[in-house]
Amino acid sequence: MARVRRVTKTLSAENAGDRALRVVRAAGGRVTSCTRTVVATLADSTDHLTAEDLIAEVESRLPGVAASTVYRVIQRLSELDLVEHVHTSVGPPIYHLHERGHAHLVCNGCGVISDISDRHLNGLTQTLTRQFEFTLEPRHSALVGYCRDCAPRRAHLAH
Ligand SMILES: [Zn+2]
Ligand SMILES: [Zn+2]
Ligand SMILES: [Zn+2]
Repeated sequence: MARVRRVTKTLSAENAGDRALRVVRAAGGRVTSCTRTVVATLADSTDHLTAEDLIAEVESRLPGVAASTVYRVIQRLSELDLVEHVHTSVGPPIYHLHERGHAHLVCNGCGVISDISDRHLNGLTQTLTRQFEFTLEPRHSALVGYCRDCAPRRAHLAH
C-alpha cells in the first residue's frame, strides 16, 4: 500500500540512524547504548519530539538511564550536526535527525506543525543572501501563520 512519504529520501540500504552512528564513531565518540537509543528513537519517529518527549521515550526503551545522560547525548549529537532542533512558537524546540531535517509551518491557532521541504524557501534564502548578505537557516525556526482551518478565525485568534 502506498504510504504518504514525508520529505525523507532513503538513499541506500544503510539507514539514517546507522549513518549517524558511523559519524559519531568517526569523530572519536563512543557509541553507548544511550547514544544508540537516542538515534534510533529519532530515526523511528515521524512525530515532533521535544527534548522532554525524547528523554521520556529513551527512558522507556532503556530503563534506568538518567535524563541528564540522555540530554548530554542530545547535545553531543547536535554538536556533531547529526541532530538539529527547530524553534516553534507553540512550545519547546523539537528535534530531528539532521539528515531528515526540513522546514516547518506552525499554525498559531491550533498549534499544528507541518513539514515542508526547505526547497520551498530557496527563493527567500537567495534574496536575503543577495540583498542583505544574510544567511537564513530555513530549518532552524518554523514559519508561523495560520492553517486553512484557522485562517478564517485569525482575527479572533491573533495576538
Ligand atoms: Zn490551525
Ligand atoms: Zn518535522
Ligand atoms: Zn536554536
